[in-house]
Amino acid sequence: MKNVTIINAVDTSKANHPVDTWPVMMLEVIKDSIDNCKFIDTRFENINIKKTINEIFFIHFIAPDFRFAIDLCKKIKNNDSKNIIVAIGPLPSLYPNKVIFDSSPVDYVLAGEIELVAQEFIKKLKKGKQNIKLDCLVSQNKKKYKLKMIDDLNKIKIPKLSYEYRCLYPIKGFFRAKHGFILSSRGCKHNCSFCSPISIRVSFGKKFRTNSINHIIDEIKYNIKRGCNIITFMDDDFTSSKGRIIELCSKIIKDKIKIKWIAHARIDEIDNKLLYLMKKAGCVILKIGVESGSERMLLRINKTKHPKKWIIESEKLFNYARKINLDIVAMFMIGIPDETNNDLNKTKKLIKQLNPYLIQLAKYTSYYDLLKKDIYPRPSVYHYKYDKKLKKIERELYKTFYMRLPFLKNHIRYVPYYILNPRLAYKLIRYLI
Ligand code: SF4
Repeated sequence: MKNVTIINAVDTSKANHPVDTWPVMMLEVIKDSIDNCKFIDTRFENINIKKTINEIFFIHFIAPDFRFAIDLCKKIKNNDSKNIIVAIGPLPSLYPNKVIFDSSPVDYVLAGEIELVAQEFIKKLKKGKQNIKLDCLVSQNKKKYKLKMIDDLNKIKIPKLSYEYRCLYPIKGFFRAKHGFILSSRGCKHNCSFCSPISIRVSFGKKFRTNSINHIIDEIKYNIKRGCNIITFMDDDFTSSKGRIIELCSKIIKDKIKIKWIAHARIDEIDNKLLYLMKKAGCVILKIGVESGSERMLLRINKTKHPKKWIIESEKLFNYARKINLDIVAMFMIGIPDETNNDLNKTKKLIKQLNPYLIQLAKYTSYYDLLKKDIYPRPSVYHYKYDKKLKKIERELYKTFYMRLPFLKNHIRYVPYYILNPRLAYKLIRYLI
């Protein structure tokens, strides 16, 4: 009988900055649904290739780790040709034919959200079935497929997380953080041109689907029970439905659940009233993709159709958040095609005006354009390899923001957190110096 191993294949050698370690919920759920299933996340441990004999492997990866993942599949297949490799995750799901190429080590792709079909697939595979009938299955002989989407997210059981995943933002308070993670919805209706489902999005598709409020509350309580004191919601578009957030926050307050939490929000989906309610329900950090201070660039990346309003509303919201003591991480993007010095200066000016708790910069990468070409065995598709000019701009923006006296003075409030979370302090300091 073949054993099953799930691997989250992440190339940890690339990142040149501290990174959060988030769970891939789909993998955690699949692992729980299969008997004696091993799970290895390469961000935390290495794989002993020599021990990979006559096994079934689910290998999960996103676009930036494509080359790393395929190389790993090759090593596993070369070690024992009886090993069966099933590629899963954002990139294999949307580009299965890039993954199952001639002489590819990958035997199958299971496309989409496969939590609820993985067990059935494994059973059939273990019985030695050659022609497994599943719409979401792709192989050398079956190229037509349908992306699997789960409409009723309540059918997915709350997973037992395998590692001590952590989010890197410092939080006000004197406590040792134990992080919990919840994916309470999937899908995002927006069309930001840089946001590619094959690389960075947690979930698939435009259709917004959500767990019931009771399910989310159960998941929060489960995390509290296992000792978590801070929860990160990993949803792509957490604030997509205002009614949902009002209901969730009201329930947290009504049930007197004491938990700090972090989530993503969009400028055009929140207002002061909602911000206040979220804060009251335990929200300590909101991550907001402001992206640019240039109206032209906001239109260019399709962030919003109303860029002027976007910038005005950002200023109002950031001011209000400061008033109610809610920390906001402002995320910006540099290197957008056609971006001029003038556009960059507008971004710098907006960062100064917003004066957020932290800023986070990303470099524009069009994964779709990169994937139009043959990508294996060519160099991988990732955004860390950028020109010197962009790196210089990035450094300068970070330095200007983080080395200001007002920032340093404000940041003293986080020192107690650093004292009780020294690993986090070490990671951040090592990056800065
Ligand atoms: S709102 Fe966020 S998740 Fe949705 S398309 Fe834009 S960047 Fe992506």
